[in-house]
Amino acid sequence: MIKALLARVRQGYRTMEFPAPGLKLPHRGLGVPVIRSRGLERAAAACPYGAISAGTEPGLDLGRCVFCGACAAAAPEAVEFTRDYKVCASSRGDLTVGRRDYQRAAALGAELRGMFGRSFRLRQISAGGCGACEADCNVLQTLAWDLGRFGIQFVASPRHADGLLVTGPVTKNMELALRKTYEAMPAPKVVIACGACAIGGGPYAGHEECVGLPADIPVSLYIPGCPPHPMSILDGLLRLIGRID
Ligand code: SF4
Repeated sequence: MIKALLARVRQGYRTMEFPAPGLKLPHRGLGVPVIRSRGLERAAAACPYGAISAGTEPGLDLGRCVFCGACAAAAPEAVEFTRDYKVCASSRGDLTVGRRDYQRAAALGAELRGMFGRSFRLRQISAGGCGACEADCNVLQTLAWDLGRFGIQFVASPRHADGLLVTGPVTKNMELALRKTYEAMPAPKVVIACGACAIGGGPYAGHEECVGLPADIPVSLYIPGCPPHPMSILDGLLRLIGRID
């Protein structure tokens, strides 16, 4: 017991400050990209998921992007990934990085902010996910991130949840479970699409076994990435409930 206490004292306080000034993704992390017209056709051709359009309205759709970096390797003059982890957006259309400034996620309305701003309970559903997005959500509950200090917590029952965090491309097998989970949650409730698969199918887009999020389940927060970095997930959640802007 004494050894355990001494080890605890030696380790000190391990929870990271968030958001912290100058905080960036680790050196190999890919964040919000900057795109330029020159060479964009080459970048678009290199993208395995058709996330880049090089026509009259050039843009990179972070909802389709899996952040593999192939475009930047093929045409570094056209696509440059920064280490800015603030990738979340409030609408599907806002996920495109083009010539205008990237539209980051906005907070919920005043009434919902008042309800969820200090206590936000989430039910996570893996609707055919590979486990990567789920793992990065899990990381947020470790002592390094301490999600609970912001009043955010994952709960076991949809009856206790304010928000549904969906990962995975929503397979046919999980469609009913997803709908039942959503319907079991008390109103008001919000839905979060976490990861490229939940947003648009990711690598499984168009597969006959994947149906995607039903159109009648409205999404309030999109978190791009494959998987999203925990910093990006936490940033999006805090923006959604109005804790940062
Ligand atoms: S980083 Fe994104 S846009 Fe670039 S090639 Fe990979 S999936 Fe396509």
